[in-house]
Amino acid sequence: MIKLARNSFAAIAFGLINTSNAQADTVEFKLQEVAKGLHVLFGQGGNIAISSGSDGVYIVDDQFAKLSEQIKAKIKTIQPNAPEFVINTHHHGDHTGGNENFAQAGSHVIAHHNVYKRLEQKHGDGSDYLPTLTFGSDMKLHFNQEHAHLWHYHHAHTDGDAVIFFDRANAVHMGDIYFNLGSLPFVDVDSGGSLDGVIKAIQDVIMKIDDKTTVIPGHGPVTDKQNLQDYLALLQKAKTIMLDAMKNNTSLEEVVAARPLQILNLNYANWLPEERVTTLFYRSLK
Ligand SMILES: [Zn+2]
Repeated sequence: MIKLARNSFAAIAFGLINTSNAQADTVEFKLQEVAKGLHVLFGQGGNIAISSGSDGVYIVDDQFAKLSEQIKAKIKTIQPNAPEFVINTHHHGDHTGGNENFAQAGSHVIAHHNVYKRLEQKHGDGSDYLPTLTFGSDMKLHFNQEHAHLWHYHHAHTDGDAVIFFDRANAVHMGDIYFNLGSLPFVDVDSGGSLDGVIKAIQDVIMKIDDKTTVIPGHGPVTDKQNLQDYLALLQKAKTIMLDAMKNNTSLEEVVAARPLQILNLNYANWLPEERVTTLFYRSLK
């Protein structure tokens, strides 16, 4: 009896804590129109692109599951349709967390074959988190008088990255191949990512776009080709510094202790400190 009462109290207390956490967690969404029929929605997690027009709506990435209702509400401020398609730029949870909710609302999820494999490992066969359409090297989506070209880059941020080129809007969504946060990126070496792959992907994107192209990063504000070129230069510099520090078979521990990237004088996020970047770059370049 006493135990039950205590449990009830604990449940109530936990409920209260959860409620206050939920309030503290309130996400501020910001919607930016980058071209006619193309918006970017900033919330928590990867940036979402929204295509709207005569055929309906589709989106690129869907952030976290808990935000799906808010994301749907934001989409409705542009056009009342539920998204026909959801394109995933890669498998990470801050870009695919809403897949199940959107699939159950009727959206078809599109992604690279390797995104399917990784989401299947995580969520199991038959899960609504899995894409219904997958592709290899590239794919085109002709919808809303737009020709969205989904282009796969090998071993960049992960092994399943897609960059989406919007021909008519003259915009590109780069997923996490581009972190526009004024610092070095997360290269997910454990999911098949590599620093060289990120550099090659950015070089290719730069060749495919022009000075007026809107560049949508996976995280951070919308920007342009010039900033992407500066980011490429930073990555190349970081690579040179790392290779220099790794000369003569220096061990990972020694390189991390020497802090070679310190010279770049960058700020690091709490979840991605300099030590972790150094470790991932080392493992990638080794
Ligand atoms: Zn990612």
